[in-house]
Amino acid sequence: MERLWAPWRLEYVQNADKQHGCIFCAAAASDDDEAHLVVHRGERAFVLLNKFPYASGHLLVAPYRHGVNFGDLDEVEILEVHRLGAQGLDALKATYGPEGYNLGWNIGRIAGAGIPDHGHLHVVPRWAGDTNFMPVLGDVRVIPEHLQATRERLAGAWPR
Ligand SMILES: [Zn+2]
Repeated sequence: MERLWAPWRLEYVQNADKQHGCIFCAAAASDDDEAHLVVHRGERAFVLLNKFPYASGHLLVAPYRHGVNFGDLDEVEILEVHRLGAQGLDALKATYGPEGYNLGWNIGRIAGAGIPDHGHLHVVPRWAGDTNFMPVLGDVRVIPEHLQATRERLAGAWPR
């Protein structure tokens, strides 16, 4: 497996066990999409940008329900999480034109789940030599502005 070099994730990894509350529940309960990097809201699930992305445009698709994971979704959530993931591919294709994608679930802290109690699907766009695409290498302070611009572009390109 080829590993992405994403040094801005270090801050996240170092603080993963100090986080309080659930970022998904906080985003779901708020109507401030910009503050929570929400790209699209569905009926039973929604899409937000990963604040600590592996690549530009790294999306997270989560059910609104806390405490469920891949194997616990009900039929409606399964369908919507899948469809939102597919729409995310379309929005990414229309904006950033990635050359490939990784989609997957990290279940359990050991598998890389930052918020293990609120399951979510990762949609990660990939480019050849892709970390070069990020304008932020080694400088986590640049990330927030970059994330807002990415959020706006993807929300604007979301399939209707
Ligand atoms: Zn939650």
